[in-house]
Amino acid sequence: MYRFVKCPGCGAELPDRHLPVSDRYLASGECWELYGELTANNMEEMDPFFHHQLCVDAHGAQHSGGPVKPITTVFAPVGLYLAVERGFYGRQVQIAHMKLAKKAGKGAEWPRLEPPERPGDIAVLDVMKGEPGSGRKEMIQ
Ligand SMILES: [Zn+2]
Repeated sequence: MYRFVKCPGCGAELPDRHLPVSDRYLASGECWELYGELTANNMEEMDPFFHHQLCVDAHGAQHSGGPVKPITTVFAPVGLYLAVERGFYGRQVQIAHMKLAKKAGKGAEWPRLEPPERPGDIAVLDVMKGEPGSGRKEMIQ
């Protein structure tokens, strides 16, 4: 019988393996590890459009607060807006993030935004339930 741990960010309940919580995101160690697997899967696909950027920004938004750097919490909704509302590809979002960071300058102070009230209906656990390849890509979209 598994005991489960609830991720403080996305709310995913995963078998408790007593992993240390992430020091980069407000995430259980189990959720952080799953995100690492998704990242590895996405990198293996060598996607020229870099759909993984959607994962980076969605994960950042869902796991903001706590140890998360303010820039991460600011960039997440910016990236999701550009992708979802403006139709940017992941690579274009990545370039927009770089331009924004460059324009703000090194050492810029970013506002500490409040995490969203609800983490959303789809998180890394849901994406990883999809078949590698197009199934997961569809879940990411
Ligand atoms: Zn999580």
